[in-house]
Amino acid sequence: MQLYKSQNLKVYNSLSGKKEIFEPINEDHIGMYVCGPTVYSNVHLGNCRTFMSFDMIFRYFKHLGYKVRYVRNITDAGHLENDADDGEDKIAKKAKLEQIEPMEVVQRYTVDFHNTLQKLNFLPPSIEPTATGHIIEQIEIIKEILEKGIAYEVNGSVYFDVVKFSESNDYGKLSGRKLEDMIANTRELSAQDEKRNPQDFALWKRAEPQHIMRWPSPWGDGFPGWHLECTAMSTKYLGETFDIHGGGMDLKFPHHECEIAQAEACTGKSPVKYWLHANMLTLNGKKMSKSTGNNIYPSEIFSGDNDILSKAYAPSVVRFFMMQAHYTSILDLSDDALLASEKGYYRLMDAMDNLEKVKIGSTSDFDLAQWKQKCYDAMNDNFNTPILIAHLFEAVKHINLIKEGTETITEEDKAILQQTLNTFAYDVLGLENQVVVKDDSNTLDGVMDLLIELRNQARANKDFATSDQIRDKLTVLGIQLKDGKDGTSFSVN
Ligand code: AMP
Ligand code: ZN
Repeated sequence: MQLYKSQNLKVYNSLSGKKEIFEPINEDHIGMYVCGPTVYSNVHLGNCRTFMSFDMIFRYFKHLGYKVRYVRNITDAGHLENDADDGEDKIAKKAKLEQIEPMEVVQRYTVDFHNTLQKLNFLPPSIEPTATGHIIEQIEIIKEILEKGIAYEVNGSVYFDVVKFSESNDYGKLSGRKLEDMIANTRELSAQDEKRNPQDFALWKRAEPQHIMRWPSPWGDGFPGWHLECTAMSTKYLGETFDIHGGGMDLKFPHHECEIAQAEACTGKSPVKYWLHANMLTLNGKKMSKSTGNNIYPSEIFSGDNDILSKAYAPSVVRFFMMQAHYTSILDLSDDALLASEKGYYRLMDAMDNLEKVKIGSTSDFDLAQWKQKCYDAMNDNFNTPILIAHLFEAVKHINLIKEGTETITEEDKAILQQTLNTFAYDVLGLENQVVVKDDSNTLDGVMDLLIELRNQARANKDFATSDQIRDKLTVLGIQLKDGKDGTSFSVN
């Protein structure tokens, strides 16, 4: 029997505003779509948090035995500045700035995205489609919405008619907004505006002569509106209705609201059974964001190369830090918080290592079946990873007592404990045991002291070729040097 049949999983559905029992549309299978990154710059740690929340959810579904098709797209066209309907395409703007092809921008930052996620031990999604690879599908959807009379064309652009749609549908139901309030709170349209109502949004935009990212369409050369790609790709790979749609909270409105409107306009059906939204990572109490510059990059955390950090942190420490918060809660990043997570992470890894070496007894002082179920209960309660981690630490406490000789464990229970810890720490939370290097720390510290000394001597002799060579070769090996006021320290990725 698949494990999920014995577990009662509840998820918080943003659409209903309630925790609901999770029942997939097709037994055994789950279709899950998550809005991916707009690849015009490096992903910051905030972006990683949202993707990591869904990586954890994907991992748990897989662990329970579901066959999951997880689609996470790459936005490589149509996302305009300020998420607006007018203005420059974020990718085209960057291409102009750097004097390269837009597709070079896309390639560069897609590679960065993959490398970063790999360092953080993400599982790859089942399908990673791109907006530019689905222009035909997007045009077909626009034709359908036009045919239904819920969109209109003006000068080569096509807009979704929110007011018309609202006559028979509830626009705003996901984000809890009312169309009347939206209308009351928006400015009047100016004479040059093409839209009939300020709430209408672009399905297709006419490309002005200087716009480089353009495709032919029945309405002339142009490009798709940002919201359309997700409707096209989720429908293509998961069907007209699918189980889970995820993304950051900031995408609820307008992006996800518009996705619902587009799909309902085409099919008359609600496209998604459970809408899941991940909360924001903040820095200095404010949302991390590419546009404000209030952000930190994963590479800075791995190298310690940022003024707010006292040292470098291993990728699994970052993962542990993220998993210590519930995915629907705001999480603030700070050096103190990372230091505390690092301590906790090593305590867990040390205990898991120690468990292998403990002596076997004839009885167990620890009710393993009950403890294991508590771990599942935490995850079944809308993926409550902080509670799960609290239970893992309960096991750590017992392991330490067994190691001291105060408690005992049977051979059979030890095997169950090891297997359950491995399942939750590695398979579900996605941690890796990065303690190996730490265990060899005496040798490593000695070798590093020597190399740092040789580098300092080279610098004192103005032999920068040698000092750079030491630093660069260490970087290739995954060891970062950090020069600070108290000398040079190092970190291992
Ligand atoms: P973008 O590349 O801007 O389209 O964003 C990619 C994903 O990152 C979206 O799901 C956003 O909701 C999410 N995101 C952006 N900023 C943050 C943040 N500070 N914390 C968590 N998620 C974020
Ligand atoms: Zn999307």
